[in-house]
Amino acid sequence: KNVKINHLKIFAELGSGAFGIVTKRILDNNILAVKEIFKMNQEQERKKGFMDLSVIKNANSPFIVKYYGYITDFDSLYICMEPMTMCLETLYKNYVQPQNLKIPEFILGSIAVAVVKALKYLEDEHSFKVISMLNLGESGGIFCIFGKFTIRPGLIHRDIKPSNILINKSGAIKLCDFGIAAKLNDKIAMASSIGSFLYLSPERHARKKYDCKSDIWSLGISLFELATFKYPYSFENEFELLLLIIDQDPPKLPNTFSSEFQLFVNQCLIKDPNLRPTYKNLV
Ligand code: ADP
Ligand code: MG
Repeated sequence: KNVKINHLKIFAELGSGAFGIVTKRILDNNILAVKEIFKMNQEQERKKGFMDLSVIKNANSPFIVKYYGYITDFDSLYICMEPMTMCLETLYKNYVQPQNLKIPEFILGSIAVAVVKALKYLEDEHSFKVISMLNLGESGGIFCIFGKFTIRPGLIHRDIKPSNILINKSGAIKLCDFGIAAKLNDKIAMASSIGSFLYLSPERHARKKYDCKSDIWSLGISLFELATFKYPYSFENEFELLLLIIDQDPPKLPNTFSSEFQLFVNQCLIKDPNLRPTYKNLV
């Protein structure tokens, strides 16, 4: 209550994306990760910011990064959360791969479990209240109103990839970045291909109707990449990749991995979403 953003001293940058910057800050001996979403006065940013806030604020899962509170300051929204050490993309690109190491299979297994459980939680149990906003313009800043419409259940994440999976020093693995999460409904059917195109499922590339199974494909691609340090398709441009994903057989994990791990990843990468396993199967 009554904490202003300048009370939280920055002492490190944790990451940055298209919509904001995440910093490590300190408040009365507590360390927090703070995600700043600026330009909340603009439609697209506002939507992302409120979706991100609504999901994390109401999430109660050991596999989703913990929420501490939010602060608004003029056109920025600051989401305060539990500090993790880094995302899996940074972990493998900056630490594991340069030392010629591999991520051991039992850790890949923990990553798979954490992501499946986080996604299952979002699909089955998560509920949140729609937030609407009053923007009082340059002088007034932003006011958030937590409305009375409760949305539940059936959330899909839509942006599963190594940079949205975080790890800490105790080895806990948690999902973050809910800016483009969406409620599962018919409107999603032909939705534009938001989310990183590298991880989009065949049905999303083909602009067909899609659901939670699309996140499972993205998990398969992420696990493939974390296991081999290679993106499974080689392509010149986004259109070529789209054709490869739609037309070709799906990637298969090399048989240097255990048969259980191969089976898990290859099942996530079944092209037909109806044949791809459900979260229940994967658990
Ligand atoms: P964006 O929407 O810009 O992708 P993210 O929520 O994914 O925003 O955050 C961007 C990056 O910041 C992540 O990829 C991760 O490296 C880092 N990050 C985000 N949240 C945390 C956190 N709670 N602890 C540590 N690092 C974080
Ligand atoms: Mg992200």
